[in-house]
Amino acid sequence: MRIKKGDLVQMITGKDKGKQGKIVRVIPKENKVVVEGLNLVKKHQRPRREGQKGQIVLIPRPVDVSNVMLICPHCKKPTRVAYQGKKPNKVRVCKKCKSVI
Ligand SMILES: [Zn+2]
Repeated sequence: MRIKKGDLVQMITGKDKGKQGKIVRVIPKENKVVVEGLNLVKKHQRPRREGQKGQIVLIPRPVDVSNVMLICPHCKKPTRVAYQGKKPNKVRVCKKCKSVI
């Protein structure tokens, strides 16, 4: 998984194509990520208590990690990620500007 929680990414496909958001959750087992504010689905929430109204809430659904591209915090461009060095000094590097990200 080349993307981690807190990364800024851009959607490269789907209805939110071109939009950016922050990774709030990574699901390595399914190769999916949850991006804040993107790929939202409406969910009807039932009232939890009496007297409370049911409401519609928007929940971000996980998207395949191949549908997003990391935005490099240095060059601010959507980029691919490379790895340099070996564990434990392995670092993630932006393929465009070569900065460690
Ligand atoms: Zn960069």
